Amino acid sequence: MEGRLKVEDLRKMFIFVAQHVIEHEKFLTTIDQRIGDGDHGVNMALGFKEVRRKLESEVQENANEVFQCVGMTLLDTMGGASGVLFGTVFISGIVGLEPQKDIDLSTFARIFQSSLAALKKRGKAKVGDKTMIDAFEPATLALLSAADIGLSFTDALTLAAEKAREGMEKTKQYVARFGRAKSYGEAAIGHADAGAVSVSLIFQAMARWMRDNIR
Ligand code: ADP
Ligand code: MG
Repeated sequence: MEGRLKVEDLRKMFIFVAQHVIEHEKFLTTIDQRIGDGDHGVNMALGFKEVRRKLESEVQENANEVFQCVGMTLLDTMGGASGVLFGTVFISGIVGLEPQKDIDLSTFARIFQSSLAALKKRGKAKVGDKTMIDAFEPATLALLSAADIGLSFTDALTLAAEKAREGMEKTKQYVARFGRAKSYGEAAIGHADAGAVSVSLIFQAMARWMRDNIR
């Protein structure tokens, strides 16, 4: 259907996202070793391997169940601070949302908008604090404005991925106010936040999948 993403598309897109994250395990480890404890690559790869397995082997009846599956799996398998945070990104957006057989861009954007609000409420971080929010907030705002002006999924995700990458790049300039990087103080300047890098990778993968498969 024109302008709508089918449940099957969403499922395939998140399998591609999982694959992309898994391929970047070592890269994420290296990033987190600089100003963290180096577990972020392992955490993300562990979570997304299980996401890929579940999406490939279980049946999701609607878009909500796809998001639910991704979020719950990350929450259950990643553990630690980031398991809850990345779980929140995928679970909290669909709370209270009527089951969607296929999904339009404005609903897709509003799911991430709700997730962003939940993430900020839970973690208390805001833009500039050197966390995943620095990539996630600009990407989500880009999706919302893309939906407002009627862009396609492909153009919207391409824009959102650019914003996520820009936001991730900006974390290099910041001192961390949350997580382990906080203890590094000024020494964290020059290094990207690992969670922001992961969010950027997730949006790059969604954008690439759209370009390759939609339209
Ligand atoms: P841990 O900090 O337990 O080692 P990870 O290394 O997997 O977990 O994840 C760390 C990432 O979590 C950080 O790079 C940051 O982006 C994100 N993060 C940490 N605390 C917060 C918070 N309060 N709000 C949002 N994101 C956070
Ligand atoms: Mg860590």
